[in-house]
Order: sequence, then C-alpha cells, then structure tokens
Amino acid sequence: MLKRIDLDVVKSIEGLLKNGRKRITIVTHVNPDGDAIGSSVGLSNYLRKLGHFCKVLVPNDYPEYLQWMKGEEVVTVWFKAKYKAIEIIENTDILFFLDFNEEMRCGAIAEETKKFKGPRVLIDHHPHPADFTDITISDTGACATAELVYELIDALGDSDLVDESVAECLFSGILTDTGSFNYNTSNPRTYEIVGQLLKTGIDKDRIHSRLFDNFSHDRMKLLGYCLNDKMVYMPEFKTAFFSLTQEELAKFNFKPGDTEGFVNFPLSIKDVVFTAIFMEKDGKIKISFRSKGTFPTNKFASEHFRGGGHVNASGGETNLTMDEAVQKFVDLVPQYAEELKISML
Ligand code: 5GP
Ligand code: MN
Repeated sequence: MLKRIDLDVVKSIEGLLKNGRKRITIVTHVNPDGDAIGSSVGLSNYLRKLGHFCKVLVPNDYPEYLQWMKGEEVVTVWFKAKYKAIEIIENTDILFFLDFNEEMRCGAIAEETKKFKGPRVLIDHHPHPADFTDITISDTGACATAELVYELIDALGDSDLVDESVAECLFSGILTDTGSFNYNTSNPRTYEIVGQLLKTGIDKDRIHSRLFDNFSHDRMKLLGYCLNDKMVYMPEFKTAFFSLTQEELAKFNFKPGDTEGFVNFPLSIKDVVFTAIFMEKDGKIKISFRSKGTFPTNKFASEHFRGGGHVNASGGETNLTMDEAVQKFVDLVPQYAEELKISML
C-alpha cells in the first residue's frame, strides 16, 4: 500500500519524540467538533503511552456529547482557564496543531502559539494548509484528522499501542466527520483503519449512541422549528437554508452543539445540493455551508463570507445583520445557477 505519510516526515517526528520525556501540547480549532476532540485526545493518549507529558488546548468549550473520552482530563479550555493555557504553552517542547489549516483557526490561542519557538507539527485534512509549521501532514483525501493520526501511529511502527483508549477517540473523529460513514468514505483504507480500531474491542454501537443519540428535548424541538418554520427552499437553484437569531435560540434554551448537523438535513431533499445555516453568535453571523457533488462551498465561503473549509462542508462569518446576511446569500445564489445545476452525486 502506498504510504500516506512521507518517510521524511515520519523520521522527523521520530526525531522529535526520541531522547526522553517531552512536554507536548496539542492545539485544535474553535468550536471543537468530534474530529477535533477525538483526534487530539487520541493522539495525546498515544503520546502518553510513549511516556510523554501531554496536554490538549481548545479555544472554547465543546458539547457535552464529546465529554466522555478516556484521557479527556488533559483538555484545557482557553476561555475558561487562559492563564493555565498560557503556562502550558510556555512549558511546551513540541506543539501539534490538529484539524485546521491556518493558525488563526485556533482563535485566541494563536496569540500564544505564535510566540512559541520550538518545533511545530500540523496534522490536518483541510485543503490549502498554510505554511505555519515545521512539519506538515496534510491530506485532503483523509476523511478525518483522526484517520491521519492513526496513519502516523502506524507509520511510526506503533499500531500495537492503539488500545481502546486511543481507538475510541479516533473512531469518534472518523464517525463524526463522515456523518457515520455517509460522506468522504469511499477510500477502502478508511475501513481498514476502522477494522483495526474495532479489533481493540471498542463498543461501536455505544460510541455511536453517545455521539448521535444525544438530543435534548429542546434540541429536537429546535430542529423541528428549523425544518418546519424556518427553512427557505429555492428549488430553481437546488438550495435550501435556514437562519436562527439569538432570540429564537434562547426560546429553545440553546446550548453549544445544539445545532450541530442541522445544516445537513435539507440535503436529504431530492435535488437539493446546497444548504446553509445562519446563526447569530457573539455579535456576528456565523454560517455553515454544505453541498452534494461538485459545488465548492469552501470557495463560496472564502469569496463572500470570510471563511473556508472543505469542498462539501465549510463555514464563514460576517458582521452584517442577520437580514442583510441572508439577503446577500439570496442575491448571490443565482450567480451560481450553472454550477449548482450540475452539482450532483
Ligand atoms: P461547521 O459548519 O461544522 O462549523 O464547519 C465545517 C467545516 O468548515 C470545518 O471543518 C472547517 O473546516 C470549516 N469552517 C467553518 N467555519 C469556518 C471559518 O469561519 N473559517 C474557515 N476558514 N473555515 C471554517
Ligand atoms: Mn476534521
């Protein structure tokens, strides 16, 4: 099998990890998702097995349904414990950046990581990685960063160190980033890796349930409200979207993570290939985009909403009001009529 990670890169990482116990910090992106937490805690569990001292830093809090992985106690949330987080970075020998492609995606943590003079390693599967690390493992063909963490451990000759504690984290990353093997999972290698993870004895059904059967009653009602009252369908452009203001979110006792995955629902409408959700957040409008087929949502996000991401899953933001942001979107979509017309699976 063609090795995904260059031998040079493997050798460099081997070099970093040898000669005694290292203090390693793993940083991931704002609004950490299942892959961010799963790949980071999974890598940390592995590095701790090698005898290293490992911490994970996340910019802001993450949803409850991700707060169960073994080894999660190494996670520090910047916004909850800024000074502790700064101290962690100041006392680090090696910095790993996981699941994002430019330094500013780790939010306020970037102020501190930019001062860090030691070796920096990126492991990511987003397109167009910026040049901000000494060692870069970047593969857009990977369904999740967790998959690349497994490849790295394997390339280092340590696949036998992947026990349940590592496997359940990496499996969670793969499961969440692929919508339970719904997308980005056409590469047989993904299933070979998943096969290896399952061999450790992890309980697949239980992990799936923890990650996906987690709706509160309020969250389920919010989804119903979105689909029933808020969805705007533009059949002539194969597009559907919804928006949620702070006031609406408050009505449903919104908690972080509650709208996770909502943007995917309209893609189940026959012929819809492009979806968006607009949410009022911290005085800005945060947007998520999804598509089926070739329509490049990341290009749309970077050209119009200061964002980026993958072809079929991206996000951005704007300082416009909600009404202005939605109007901008509605005005833009017809300009993409041709691309949307041919975007099909
Ligand atoms: P989500 O819609 O789940 O928040 O994000 C989906 C993907 O879009 C993420 O994996 C990330 O790559 C990308 N993304 C979301 N928001 C932003 C943003 O504001 N800027 C950039 N560059 N990428 C984003
Ligand atoms: Mn990811």
